[in-house]
Amino acid sequence: MTKFIDISGVHHAYKTKHGPLPVLDGLDVGVPKGEFCAVVGPSGCGKSTLTRLISGLMRPDSGVVIVDGQEVTSPRKTVGMAFQNPVMLEWRTILQNVMLPLEIVAPGMKRDAAEARAMHLLEMVGLKGFENKKPSELSGGMRQRASLCRAIVHKPDVLIMDEPFGALDNFTREDLWQTMRDLRAAEPFTCVLITHDLRESVFLGDQVIVLSGRPARTQFVLDVDLPADRTIDILYEPRAVD
Ligand code: ADP
Ligand code: MG
Repeated sequence: MTKFIDISGVHHAYKTKHGPLPVLDGLDVGVPKGEFCAVVGPSGCGKSTLTRLISGLMRPDSGVVIVDGQEVTSPRKTVGMAFQNPVMLEWRTILQNVMLPLEIVAPGMKRDAAEARAMHLLEMVGLKGFENKKPSELSGGMRQRASLCRAIVHKPDVLIMDEPFGALDNFTREDLWQTMRDLRAAEPFTCVLITHDLRESVFLGDQVIVLSGRPARTQFVLDVDLPADRTIDILYEPRAVD
């Protein structure tokens, strides 16, 4: 199958004042279009570095990073990003925050259409009725829901999430997993999720890529072979597969 994201043989060392710091030593990531790839690995192994390679914020010392058939050589507009602590513009409402990428990526879009698109997503994640609130009036989980809407409002070709649920309590986090699945069912996008949480990686991922070592490399890739409508129960009570 052709890979929408095709990273192979990537090596990278950051230049620091103490000399080069080798971080990646053989990174391979292949994600078919529309698939969800979860990446796990210890702190400092280069997971955030991987997100910068895909978004084009940096180039590796060697190896290739291809997205949608093109080598990534400069920052790409067509990515959506979500982080652990979403940065929201406090003087704007939730709706206005979610509309922001449309103003940047699709400046010609009519205001009504942009609003309708943002509202549609807010409804899907259960934030209807909160669109006119300011970010500080929402809980952490709600802000993260809004930030997911903002990350996909402009239909990016890749959604990159760097430990987006790390700061949330377990219950909120599991709710968000389900929301993530609902969003994907409604509009398929290729997704790279960085996480520390193995259950999360298996609940959401079509594949799980495990990075480790120092400098880190792709150690193995796990194909997640659970039913597409897997429930959280499956993760607590693994059933025999016949
Ligand atoms: P992870 O997200 O897996 O925790 P990172 O990709 O953020 O790891 O970082 C990998 C390693 O590279 C860490 O040791 C980090 O300190 C170092 N590093 C990250 N960014 C830079 C940078 N811009 N300059 C120098 N070192 C960096
Ligand atoms: Mg990181």
